[in-house]
Parts: sequence; structure tokens; C-alpha cells
Amino acid sequence: MKIIDILTQNKLSLSFEVFPPKTQMSFESVKLATEEIAKLKPSFMSVTYGAGGGTSKYTLDIAKNIKEMHGVPTLAHLTCVSSTKETVQKKIKDIKDAGITNIMALRGDIPAELEGVDRSNWDYRHASDLIYELKSENNDFCIGCACYPEIHPESANQKEDIKYLKEKVDAGCDFITTQMFFDNNLLYNFLYKIREAGITVPVIPGIMPITNANQVDRAVKLSGSFMPQRFKSLVDKFGSDPNAMKQAGIAYATDQIIDLYANSITNVHVYSMNKPEVAKQIQANLSDILGKDF
Ligand code: FAD
Repeated sequence: MKIIDILTQNKLSLSFEVFPPKTQMSFESVKLATEEIAKLKPSFMSVTYGAGGGTSKYTLDIAKNIKEMHGVPTLAHLTCVSSTKETVQKKIKDIKDAGITNIMALRGDIPAELEGVDRSNWDYRHASDLIYELKSENNDFCIGCACYPEIHPESANQKEDIKYLKEKVDAGCDFITTQMFFDNNLLYNFLYKIREAGITVPVIPGIMPITNANQVDRAVKLSGSFMPQRFKSLVDKFGSDPNAMKQAGIAYATDQIIDLYANSITNVHVYSMNKPEVAKQIQANLSDILGKDF
């Protein structure tokens, strides 16, 4: 099933993201965790892709397993930066052969050792290069891309960031998923701006439940997201008690999601990070809300 058909069903939807194992050794435990999440029957599940290609094989293995064993529609992430055309074309063929019809087309982070090098002769410099390719081949993928309500760290300003986002949509992207954010007003302001710029495809807000204090620094570093005082107070108060922090973090994420639904957002994606108990609790918190007609 194509993700775009789920997003335009006029029903409130919830989807979860998981990541593949780094090594064969951890494959079984990751597979089990992703299956536990799949048993919740979310609207769809996305499986991330290691930028350096390290876990790329497992992305497909996990996505295929979720789809075939649990009937949950899957979205396979694919990055292209510092890859050759040949490698990326092989990956696209593998995704197609696995019967997966949804691809999240990403540039990926520039590996530290390649930062500052001349990229003019790279096969892929931007996510849009991958989207053009996915569209130009004889493919029928539903394509997603990433966006950044608080601006991509490499962008000079938001106007420029939105200009390149529009290029991705014009290249053939069907929907957009956002980077994590912890203040919904940032998302609402961003939506005004992209709609004004003529971007009309569905936007899925990405919500990251922070369930332990150690995650905070990592999440901020990774995303550059603003942490509202309300959230900081919660970490100050409960950060040293793992169970209390988990409960508070899930409640905060649930509150963000309910506010999004209440403000006419129909689809929400949760960065569930291979934590079935977190996915389960968030879904339970929304049990009488999900599936409602919009
Ligand atoms: P792009 O869209 O190419 O943008 C990157 C930067 O280049 C931006 O500053 C943009 O404004 C600029 N830009 C874009 N086009 C042009 C152009 N034509 N000319 C000049 N500048 C341009 N990483 C992974 O490794 N694996 C994953 O599975 C993964 N999943 C993600 C899912 C989501 C929802 C998000 C938000 C991010 C994800 N990432 C993942 C991280 C992502 O790879 C990084 O944020 C990366 O730095 C940018 O990828 P992009 O696809 O947004 O790049």
C-alpha cells in the first residue's frame, strides 16, 4: 500500500519509525522489537538507513519482515550522498524486488572525513538528485522526503531551506516528514511558510518521545531542536528517576500529538526508536482518538 493513500484517507493516523541493527549479532533482537511494534498495527512503519551504508542491507530485511509477517505498510529510507549511481541503482532495484513501494529519499549526512571536499563531481549532492532519479526510471514508488521546521543545520536561512524543499516536491515527492521538534508552534509557523511557498503535499510531523535524560543532549545535538522550558523542567525534576522520566516523556509526546490532531493535523509519525513499550503506551493513550474521521 502506498503511504500517500494512507495520508489522504481523512482518518487520524499514527505511524512508527524503527532503525535496523548495525551488526548481524543484534539482528534478532532488533527484529523482535520491530515485530512487537508491528503487532500494534500502526498506519505504517518506516525503517531508517545507515548513511555510510553500514546497515543498508538490514533496512530492507527489517522492512520486508514487517510487511510480510505483519501486513504493515513499510517505508524504506534510502540515502545517496557519497554513493555511486551504480550502488544506489542496485539499492532501488532491491527495494523494488522486495515488493516495497514507499521510499524516503534522503541525502544523508556528509561523512566527517568528507566534509569540506569538492562535491561537484559526486553522483548525488542533494536529496533532489535521488528523487529525480527515482522518478525518471520506470518506477512507481510513493516518495517521501525530509524537512526541518527549525531549518537544516547547513542552510543559511529558512527561505533558502524552503526553496530547496520545494525543489524536492517539484521533483516528485509525494509527502514530507519533519525533523523532531518539541514546540508545536514551530511546526505551525513552518506550515504557514511552506504553504505560502506553494508546497501542498501532506506533511507528517515527526515526534520524538524523550524517555531518558541521556537522550536529551543527543537529540538536541542531532536535530538542533529548541527545548521549551516546560520540557526542561520535566527533565530537571524526573531525569534521575528512569521510570518517572519515561512516564513523563511519553506524556509530553502524547500531549504534543493530541495538540497536533486538535489543530487539524491528520497524520503523526513517532520516532519510536525500537522501543515497543513506548510505542504501545503512546498508542494506548490515543486509543479513543485514533481512527476517527477527520
Ligand atoms: P537535502 O534535502 O539534500 O538538504 C540538505 C541541505 O542541502 C539543506 O541545507 C538544504 O537546504 C540544502 N539543499 C538541498 N538542495 C539543494 C540544492 N539544490 N542546492 C543547494 N543546497 C541544497 N539520515 C540517515 O542517514 N538515514 C535515515 O534513514 C534518515 N532518515 C531521516 C528522516 C527524516 C524525517 C529526517 C528529517 C532526517 C533523516 N535523516 C536520515 C537525516 C538526513 O539524512 C540529514 O538531515 C541530512 O543532513 C540531510 O538530508 P536531506 O535529505 O534533508 O538533504
